[in-house]
Amino acid sequence: MAQEDELRFVVDSDNVDAPAAEEISEELFSLDQEVDQDASGPDSPQDADRLVQAREALRGGKPIFLVQRSHQHSAIIPTLLQEVSSRHTDTLSLGVVAPMPRMRPKGPSSVENFFRNTAATAPIQIADPECFARLDSYGDTLKAQRDDKPYVGNSTASKWDYFNRPLSAGWEPEWVAEVVETQRAQGATVLLTPGLWMDPAERVQSLSVLRDTVNWSRQTISSQENLAVNVTIPSSWLTTERLREYLLAEMLDLDEDVFYVRVRWPLLSQPYGQMIVPEILDGYMELAAVCEENDKVLILPNTSMTGWLSLAWGANGFSTGIGSGERAFADTKVIKIKRTTPRPAPTNRTFNTSLLHVVDLQTERLLADLPDYRACQCEFCRTQIPGTWDKGKAGAHYLQAVADTIASSSRHPRGARAGSRSVVRQALAFKEAADPPVPLEGANAPKHLDVWFARL
Ligand SMILES: [Zn+2]
Repeated sequence: MAQEDELRFVVDSDNVDAPAAEEISEELFSLDQEVDQDASGPDSPQDADRLVQAREALRGGKPIFLVQRSHQHSAIIPTLLQEVSSRHTDTLSLGVVAPMPRMRPKGPSSVENFFRNTAATAPIQIADPECFARLDSYGDTLKAQRDDKPYVGNSTASKWDYFNRPLSAGWEPEWVAEVVETQRAQGATVLLTPGLWMDPAERVQSLSVLRDTVNWSRQTISSQENLAVNVTIPSSWLTTERLREYLLAEMLDLDEDVFYVRVRWPLLSQPYGQMIVPEILDGYMELAAVCEENDKVLILPNTSMTGWLSLAWGANGFSTGIGSGERAFADTKVIKIKRTTPRPAPTNRTFNTSLLHVVDLQTERLLADLPDYRACQCEFCRTQIPGTWDKGKAGAHYLQAVADTIASSSRHPRGARAGSRSVVRQALAFKEAADPPVPLEGANAPKHLDVWFARL
């Protein structure tokens, strides 16, 4: 078989060179080698208190910053959350998201263990059921985009009955109750509706399934519990006016006031890049504005800094994470490299807070010589050992930098929008001053800044 002579990498951007592919592949394709921290530290608060704290975090008016558990380097997340919490406890509401069917129900790598390790700092704890990845929802397409490798691997999928069980008669109340109960049993403080894929070609049916699954979910929860409507859609629901209007009308019609809306992005133009399609950003703008006007809490999972931008438009929170799959819910493709070709050295990259963009380390060092460069003071950068590169620490630095940026923009005296405008304006000025002398090309080019600034 020819395939045995090839290494295959799943990537989520269009212009990926081999070194970048190697880096991304590790996060999506390697075996789960990490060792989770043991449950230690203070005991979790009692269940009723946890639900109250989660409710306050959701509706307290502070920006919501959710860290999605990554496949690799997740052991650093509890420490990262402690750092963020100690700096920004008055400014941000914190939470975590566990991709439930891609984790285990028991043991050190389990969802419940992850929640226990983060409960002291992150009151919002979401066990995302990811039902869109079922093979009878969007799972087949996801699999095809990954060279036939399922989005949720068999080793974990088989442990979650709600994810695997065939539903020959279609979606039904008992199954929805099981989806909710499974999250509850893992200790989630905010419960999600299933979040099945909404196919725009079947608009009426998709909206009807959304409504049914929300109604059935609501029937299974107590008045103390927190429920969020889980919406998973391709970007055409945001970019096509008619579809967007139907979706918004349905959302406003539902009694629920917390929405968790995940939008499938097209392949990104850069690895670790931002989503820069103007029509999709405009769709997010309208979604956020309509939610704000109608007192709906809007959370945008897996949106990287696009989520931060959306806070200025009226969204309440977003999630991101260490790996590219946590930063963007984007289409993927597969890159093949012959085994006989020498493997390229990985490109190490870091998030540059002044540019609001990920650059390679060589570029970062050149930027450091510029007069306006501000060296990162975070715990994770401070403890990087010269000559080596700890990707977990680089990922934690990114998350810390995102949290600092949210805090800084939200504290602006004229509000979050003025705060975000000021942050992006500074980034544009830094970019202007940097290039030349530092060439910001290819993956290092912060292509998103102009598109963002035009929308602030
Ligand atoms: Zn740092």
